[in-house]
Formats: sequence, C-alpha cells, structure tokens
Amino acid sequence: MSLAPINPSDEQDVLFALAACLGADPEIFYVEKGGSSAEAKSICRGCRVDEQCLDYALENNELHGIWGGHSQPELRILRRERRRATPTPIDGDARLPKAEKTILNVLAQFPNGRARRQLALLSGYSSTSGGFNNALSKLRTAGLINKSGEPIKATTEGFATINHTRQAG
Ligand code: SF4
Repeated sequence: MSLAPINPSDEQDVLFALAACLGADPEIFYVEKGGSSAEAKSICRGCRVDEQCLDYALENNELHGIWGGHSQPELRILRRERRRATPTPIDGDARLPKAEKTILNVLAQFPNGRARRQLALLSGYSSTSGGFNNALSKLRTAGLINKSGEPIKATTEGFATINHTRQAG
C-alpha cells in the first residue's frame, strides 16, 4: 500500500500513521505479477494496524498491492468469504453464526476483553484467518464488540446477545 499525507483530524489517517510500512518503498507492496510479496508481508507481520489495514482494503475493494499482510489472491478469497457471509446484521433475535458465537462466548468470560491474538487463540482460530477476521468485522458492524482497538471487548448489546442465545439454546 502507499500512504497519503497524514490528516490528524481523520481517524483513518491517524491509524495509518502507525503503519509499519510508513516510509517503506511502495514498490515492495506493489510487486509485478509473479514477483515475491515476502518482503512486504514480513513488514506487515510487525505492523500494529494490520487488522485495520485488512478491513480497510476489503471494505474499499483495494485491487492492487499488499494489505494487512495479504496478497491480492488472498484478498480475493477473503472478499468471497465476506460476500458469502450472512448479509443481515446480527440482532438480539438472530441465531449467531458459529464463529461469532464462539468469539462472544470467549469474551463473556473476560469482561476486560482480550488482545486480538489471544482472542483468536482462545476461540480456536488463527488471528490471520478469514473466518476469524470476518466474524470480528460482523460483530463490530452489529455493535456487539467495540468498534476498534484492543483489547477487544463485548459491548452491552454483545453480552445481551450472548445471554439471549444461551437462553434460546
Ligand atoms: S499491514 Fe502492512 S500494508 Fe497495512 S499498514 Fe501495516 S505494514 Fe502497511
């Protein structure tokens, strides 16, 4: 990815000001077809905003470059998985999909929340898997976990949904 000038009043700009690729050669992130993305991915692995970067790329349909440690073929797979995901937002009356339910149940045990990688581990997912990241995005969109940052915590609505789901069996 390449970074535009920082506007401190813009939340997205402030986020990307923390990017590990800030100052890196953009060509590393835009390799020719058949080229290696290993160097870019190695930078992304040390990035504090990799999850937000990935969300940004998926939400904005970025069709070029490495984003959140993912190449374009990997991003295409994640986009397909997102499209397949339930389009309707989760609400208190809906049955939670398995991944979201697992994550919320883990968070129910930790009112102070968990770091993203810890949460993935406790939920039985890889923190970089599309399933885990899609589930987090859907939970965020539905307002069942905090919108961004770490630790990740269930919101009041999230706890209510867990209880509702448990009562519904
Ligand atoms: S995840 Fe990679 S591409 Fe995205 S901001 Fe971080 S270093 Fe840059």
